[in-house]
Amino acid sequence: MELYIHLPFCRKKCRYCDFASWAGMEDRMEDYVAAVIREAQSRAAALGTFRPETVFIGGGTPSVLPPSLLDRLLDGVFRLFPPKHGAEITSEANPGTLTADWLSAAQAQGVNRLSLGMQAAQPELLRMLGRIHDTAAVGESVRLIRAQGIRNLNLDLMFGLPGQTEAMWQETLQTALSFTPEHISCYGLIPEDGTPLKDDLDSGALTLPEEETERAMYDKAISLLGQAGYAQYEISNFAKPGFACRHNIGYWQRVPYLGLGLAAASMFLRPDGSCLRETNTALMADYLREPGTGRESEAASGTDAMFESLMLGLRMTEGVSEAAFEAMHGQPLSAVYGKKLSQLADRGLLIHEHGSWRLTRRGMDIQNTVLVELMEPDA
Ligand code: SF4
Repeated sequence: MELYIHLPFCRKKCRYCDFASWAGMEDRMEDYVAAVIREAQSRAAALGTFRPETVFIGGGTPSVLPPSLLDRLLDGVFRLFPPKHGAEITSEANPGTLTADWLSAAQAQGVNRLSLGMQAAQPELLRMLGRIHDTAAVGESVRLIRAQGIRNLNLDLMFGLPGQTEAMWQETLQTALSFTPEHISCYGLIPEDGTPLKDDLDSGALTLPEEETERAMYDKAISLLGQAGYAQYEISNFAKPGFACRHNIGYWQRVPYLGLGLAAASMFLRPDGSCLRETNTALMADYLREPGTGRESEAASGTDAMFESLMLGLRMTEGVSEAAFEAMHGQPLSAVYGKKLSQLADRGLLIHEHGSWRLTRRGMDIQNTVLVELMEPDA
């Protein structure tokens, strides 16, 4: 079982962001921390406690929480859900907000992995995204993280941005490499409705790069990071040996998780492979009043649950293990999808190897098309 804790506070709202996060809510931080602890208490009473293998503190920007509140939050949650010995405990953080005191508080509670939002190396792109930092601030954050003795660092990067050229993307990758992180995530921009960036794209004030350019950027990431010793283990994720993110791998392998906090999602697995997903309210006032009430839930069973295993598993370069699929769903993968998987392999989109099915490089490029074909099992 994994644990996720959501902190919805940011210094400033980025122009592309549609996550549950807000700026200017510092006066709610104390109440929010108390609410998350109350939610953890009610979850522990209802579900029993467990010891998570991995913990992810996301947001928002966890590093804007004052160190004393971070300590109070993690102390309260970890008393009920103490991480296992050797657990991976990640916190997201943003350059320009990270301090040595915050890192000390995080580390004292066991945080041993940091995920830093670098995004781009060019000031004009960072401004266009509405980020608060520059590359110097990334360097300073990395210095603080290393000085604290944290040896597991991820940098998040973005490509396919308005105004971004292939040369700029290469410079971003090289700058990120110069910070020698153990892990790099490269996300293609997805313009989300209702964000200022999407409005600018719709009005023509900004333009996205051509699809071909975006694909070339992705190829550049794979080749450059590969040469630098980072193995791609998922569509967007690259790691030095031994540093793949265990928490995210758990999501893709359908390991159950408990999510605490505003808009946080949980997933509980049943022995037949079906699952129940619950999502907390995204309204701050409701969450503070009664954390954990008004959750929306959605069940996935039968072929929906099996498709979910394929959809998530095919994100990873190791693909979907036939043995794991059968153990989870009680039916061999070949009995449910065998015909379709073979047809996709014949078209060069999938490979069957060592008891697993995985996407080829071409399959990765058109992953959505592959998944649409797998939505229905064999007739
Ligand atoms: S820092 Fe992250 S969570 Fe906060 S507004 Fe920017 S993208 Fe959204």
